[in-house]
Amino acid sequence: MKTLVYSIHGFDKPFLVEVADGKHELDFTEQPLNESTAHLAKGFEAVALFTSDNASAEVLAKLKECGVKFIALRSVGYDHVDLAKAKSLGIKVANVPAYSPYAIAEHSVALLMALNRKIVLGQQLIRQNDFRLDRLVGFDLHAKTVGIVGTGKIGSVFAKIMNGFGCKLLAYDVEVNEALSKETQIEYTTFENVCKQSDVISINCPLNADTKYMFNKSIFSKMKKGVVFINTARGGIVDTVDLIEALDNGTISFAGLDVYENEKPIFFYNHSDKKIEDELFEKLRSYPNVLITGHQAFLTNEALQGIAATTMNNIDQWSKEEKSINDIN
Ligand code: NAD
Repeated sequence: MKTLVYSIHGFDKPFLVEVADGKHELDFTEQPLNESTAHLAKGFEAVALFTSDNASAEVLAKLKECGVKFIALRSVGYDHVDLAKAKSLGIKVANVPAYSPYAIAEHSVALLMALNRKIVLGQQLIRQNDFRLDRLVGFDLHAKTVGIVGTGKIGSVFAKIMNGFGCKLLAYDVEVNEALSKETQIEYTTFENVCKQSDVISINCPLNADTKYMFNKSIFSKMKKGVVFINTARGGIVDTVDLIEALDNGTISFAGLDVYENEKPIFFYNHSDKKIEDELFEKLRSYPNVLITGHQAFLTNEALQGIAATTMNNIDQWSKEEKSINDIN
């Protein structure tokens, strides 16, 4: 079975090639999937998609015309795919439900620590021969309250790391993680309580109809003044306009963001020769107390190996049985 891999990058191609090991026929394109690139899938039964690809209803209809029957997502999240439309077209979709949750949880900790201990500013000052410490005062995480929204695979790893720091843990999730409760004494409460009581808030839930703009003006107004806000989940869970207001009025002292609601045309590509035509993003990245990484939380060898292995396994199973254990529609 021939598979077209969209949005291939230098960081993930070697892992896919190694796992495919010449047994799978893979073609690669650096182009993201969208309405104008869907035609490239002509003659392929399967496509492998990245988070930056757009599998909207219109694009799926074009893939169907090209003969695509299976979509293997190289991601946990599937908010970029119209699953209902795929189902109605008879296109099966499988995701990578789990790969190193440590990669993302550890990156959340990296953002938190870099912001709190002012690592970026410290490095800039060292390079300028300025060894004064006056602008570099942070706070102990020990005994601080950390609120986690979404305690699944990634959120629970993050909770355990924060437990190791000696933090008090609060959580909001639609399902209580009993094993995590026993191991860490995390306290489940309402979304509002988590936001009201936490010194640090980390988002680790999926983006869906219930979580879209879950973090907005109304909930920011209830947070402790000076809260540290970390989002490595999905940009659309946060209303960026309201986040900027919360930064301006001092509610949020620091924001560590690996995701941004309109990241698709920006992240993963080199724009060094042009202007970024997104005023909201320009504003967000202008704040010295905002640390942005370009959706790189998953970028560890272990995670990339896991993504490649599960993606190829999903394709393999589908080609033999026309279903895979990770089908999501
Ligand atoms: P998971 O399914 O194991 O956990 C998600 C948790 O969120 C579950 O416990 C679920 O009950 C909870 N949840 C669902 N709806 C909720 C709601 N309305 N309110 C509160 N909690 C809710 O998923 P995971 O592997 O932990 O991944 C979480 C998210 O992280 C993914 O959906 C994805 O968007 C994001 N992610 C980001 C990166 C990155 O590189 N930045 C990489 C992988 C995943």
